[in-house]
Amino acid sequence: MNFLGDLSTNVKYIKGVGPAKANILTKLNIFTIGDLVEHYPRRYEDRSKLNPISKLVNAGVQTFRATTVNCQETKPRRGLTLTKVTVQDSSGFAQLVWFNQPYIKKWFKPGSELIISGKVERKFGQVQITRPEIEALDGSDLLHTGRIVPIYPASENVGQRWLRAIIHQVLGEYSLPGEFLPPVIVKEFGLIDRRMAIRTIHFPEDQSSLAAARRRLVFEELYLLQCGLLFSKRKNQQSNKGIKHSADGELVNKMKASLPFTLTQDQQASLRDITADMEDTTAMQRLVQGDVGSGKTVLAAIALTKTVENGYQGAMMAPTEILAEQHYHTLAQLLAPMGIRIAVLTGRLTRRIRQEVLARAKDGLVDIVVGTHALIQEDVEFKQLGLVITDEQHRFGVNQRALLTAKGQTPDVLVMTATPIPRTMALTVYGDLDVSVIRQLPPGRKPIKTYAVGSEMRQRIYTFIAKEVKAGRQAYVVCPLVEESEKLEAKAAVQMYEQLKVTYFKDISCGIVHGKMKSQEKDNVMNDFYSGEIKVLVATTVIEVGVNVPNASVMAIEGADRFGLAQLHQLRGRIGRGEHQSYCILLSDNQNQETKDRLDIMVKISDGFELAEKDLLLRGPGQFFGTRQHGMPDLKIADIVQDTEILLEARTAAKQTVADSQEFQLVRTVLTARLGDYFGMIFNN
Ligand code: ADP
Ligand code: MG
Repeated sequence: MNFLGDLSTNVKYIKGVGPAKANILTKLNIFTIGDLVEHYPRRYEDRSKLNPISKLVNAGVQTFRATTVNCQETKPRRGLTLTKVTVQDSSGFAQLVWFNQPYIKKWFKPGSELIISGKVERKFGQVQITRPEIEALDGSDLLHTGRIVPIYPASENVGQRWLRAIIHQVLGEYSLPGEFLPPVIVKEFGLIDRRMAIRTIHFPEDQSSLAAARRRLVFEELYLLQCGLLFSKRKNQQSNKGIKHSADGELVNKMKASLPFTLTQDQQASLRDITADMEDTTAMQRLVQGDVGSGKTVLAAIALTKTVENGYQGAMMAPTEILAEQHYHTLAQLLAPMGIRIAVLTGRLTRRIRQEVLARAKDGLVDIVVGTHALIQEDVEFKQLGLVITDEQHRFGVNQRALLTAKGQTPDVLVMTATPIPRTMALTVYGDLDVSVIRQLPPGRKPIKTYAVGSEMRQRIYTFIAKEVKAGRQAYVVCPLVEESEKLEAKAAVQMYEQLKVTYFKDISCGIVHGKMKSQEKDNVMNDFYSGEIKVLVATTVIEVGVNVPNASVMAIEGADRFGLAQLHQLRGRIGRGEHQSYCILLSDNQNQETKDRLDIMVKISDGFELAEKDLLLRGPGQFFGTRQHGMPDLKIADIVQDTEILLEARTAAKQTVADSQEFQLVRTVLTARLGDYFGMIFNN
């Protein structure tokens, strides 16, 4: 059954659309009739209240009803046509004015009844409205005036009037998919009828029915997402075929004893959760959320050792080559002495080496494979995968995690993230996972001192960096973000590097790393920075995650205003990782008050969770997750910052549905149609 029915038809078949307009609509991500139906208004303008002309005042957009009297066209100068239409009601007259719109005159007929909306100017007792929105009262539905009017996301060549008309037409001509929510849920949560909600969201009668319609559609959207997440959690847990790891043995104990530090309380608590999950027969589905530098990697190392001790293999996936390499080195250092065999798998391996790693993984000749997305390619096989870890999960989608998990038979799954996200958002993105949180940082860390300064301070900052280097420390200089082009970003970084190494840092060994470099070059530079050979590293955001050089104590971030708070926090997390006092300097000449406030938050707040809450409030969820960060499906109407309450209700409802297999069957079809791509293989069997 196709849930969407008619609605999956291409928009070009709609009367009045055709191929050319259809092509333009693709810019608004509208391809099918269903997309058009779900092209929800961005906001509304209330043009429902009608005033007599005598009561119109100079205050924003107002609406009135009047009859046309006459039309005058004048050409006050070359290239300018002025059209004036006089209208009247029982209380007085008003002038409607247009510039260079000759068709108005052709359209004009004296005595027609109009509804008129526009910005009113009252001058010398005369009421004038320039470029008003008008609509004839001819018995058909009012779309543009005299009602609460939808304002849509529009684009060039697709105007509001046209969108309104076409959406109105579609709502009348095509049958919308009806109710699919279980009746008990509709009743319990007081939701209005689905078809009614869709009509109302576009053309509401009044504010209260609009609110009810919006609630219904937000609920539906979040409910489906929660059903998917909870179903996938249940599926993993109910299978009851998970791996039952045995209690810690000699290898794990030896590994723990070899650590050069004791675990913090939070690390221990998280480790207890992980251990209990792994020793249970249901597969682990756990998220460890911990601020940058809170020490998640060591927990991963212990969990990996445990699976190896039980005769299984482990896989760990990271979003960037730099991070994968870094994990490989850390794990090799900790685990190789125990005889554990580790390999790395990234896109940069030569064919021959790659084949060799694949063969060893398949034959069980390697215990742990660390890698990037390269790990989830089809030809990667394991002999017996017991534990799967994804680091910086927010960079991956649910589906990518599922692909890695599918390389084994219900392996335990551990997910780590350093992007602390507010609780309600966690329910949306990680709704299928159990959560452990590490809030504490390891002891002895000194809080990073952060400063926001203008570029007039640059010289002093570079002098300070030189001084720190002289005292044995290392530093990062982060170049401005160029979101649109990695190439431009790289170019700017090279320029800065070339300049710095002949001026401020001419006696200091500098290095550069950016996204356009070859893997091998990047590697060499990073290795030289790890070993301390390079003292000042000029870098783009490629160092944003995972880089761990405890000796680095200063970071200067150029063009700091271009980064989001979460990203600045990640960057700042590269310093303050050792016993030295660290300094983060945010350079920006942006005088915008909002920008200054944002950087000021960085200066004042060091706790990642607190920052995340602030960031979410400041930028909204879309920006928060940013174009580079995935992990969430596109939400068409819900706003997870404002719709927290509905989210919690939807989650409660979804729990009920998923627990009742008959009820879930109904929803499942819709889920597959709507979020099948997002959940990927989870719904395949
Ligand atoms: P993240 O959570 O950002 O992945 P890491 O695991 O990279 O953090 O840890 C950051 C640094 O802290 C590493 O150098 C690690 O060895 C160190 N570390 C981790 N746990 C502790 C601890 N309990 N005491 C002292 N240092 C620790
Ligand atoms: Mg980490």
